[in-house]
Amino acid sequence: VRSQFQNCGLILSSATPSLETQNNINKNKYEHVFLSKQFSGLPLPSVELIDLTKNKLDKNNWISSIIFKELTNCLEKKEQALIFLNRRGYSPLSLCIECGYRFQCQHCSSWLVMHQQKKRLLCHHCGTILQIQNDCPKCSKKNSIKFIGPGVERVAEELTKYYPEKNIAIMSSDSANTPKKIKTIIDQFTNKKIDILVATQIMAKGYDFPNLSFVGVVDADAGLFGGDMRAIEKTFNLLQQVSGRAGRSQRAGKVMIQTYYPQQVVIQSLKNHDRASFIKQTLKEREQFAIPPFGYMTSIIFSGPSKSLIEKYASNLVQNSKKDKSIDVLGPVEAPRFLLRGQYRYRILLKGNNRKNLNKFTRQMLDLSPKPPLVKVIVDVDPYSFM
Ligand SMILES: [Zn+2]
Ligand SMILES: [Zn+2]
Repeated sequence: VRSQFQNCGLILSSATPSLETQNNINKNKYEHVFLSKQFSGLPLPSVELIDLTKNKLDKNNWISSIIFKELTNCLEKKEQALIFLNRRGYSPLSLCIECGYRFQCQHCSSWLVMHQQKKRLLCHHCGTILQIQNDCPKCSKKNSIKFIGPGVERVAEELTKYYPEKNIAIMSSDSANTPKKIKTIIDQFTNKKIDILVATQIMAKGYDFPNLSFVGVVDADAGLFGGDMRAIEKTFNLLQQVSGRAGRSQRAGKVMIQTYYPQQVVIQSLKNHDRASFIKQTLKEREQFAIPPFGYMTSIIFSGPSKSLIEKYASNLVQNSKKDKSIDVLGPVEAPRFLLRGQYRYRILLKGNNRKNLNKFTRQMLDLSPKPPLVKVIVDVDPYSFM
């Protein structure tokens, strides 16, 4: 924006620009040079979708036989593979098979993630740590706790069972939490000390591995239904970058993506290297629902020690507000992190097509219903996450 005033050119450099940038490009604000091939001039990798509704996974397996076949092929040629799963730890959910109890963070209500290497249950939102238990704290049944779903540690375990002779390593913010550790893993992979690298999004930054020829994506859907509209965009960029990995090597790269939703526009456009149709579709949806970059939003979060107090105040606020046809009031609903550091949280979303009106409406709304002393109100203009 600054360049506008200084009257000089502006180059926004990214192989995968954000939708806001893309919309500016569509409005011809910026010159846009399309990257149709990768910068090396090599062809883009071939992308194959594996429909998990048809290719059922075996019990307690997370990698399909199709990917295993391709992996074996890749390793026999002395090439390297990257297995991508954007989930830290061993298992995202610990559950009692007797009574259904789930280990949940007492401070922020997130599910606790089991980390086998660190031997703990960990909250990824607030850092709370619990010991791993095999007995249920609710119904006291012995050995009733089961770990549901995979994280990178569990996928690495599955690969190690299948390829006991191969070097399999994990790269996540747990195993690579310092620049030095990141460099060590990157060097080992570059020098072919690692055959298969299991990695989270930490891997999506630009590295070049000349011997990497296969990328398997364990769960492409993980980012699609996370409650954050921009998660779809992030997932697309991430997968495009990760699949770009395989194509940057000197060999023809191959990418396989496991999904339960092969018809999803994001997944389809990824397969077809068709960023344009992904952008068109997503911008169309955003225009329909008047969400950024086509509309304006304000999120109001209410928090306090009593659930009923917060809920009642937030509901009164909506009921007492002046009706305005140009503004949508959504909620109150439980905020995405309903319980945070002992405080209950509710949220109201306001949506409109004019920022000034929206701000005025917000102010009026809060003035009409003065808040009780124990309630805290946070107003977030153009919130990053708005589902
Ligand atoms: Zn139980
Ligand atoms: Zn927590």
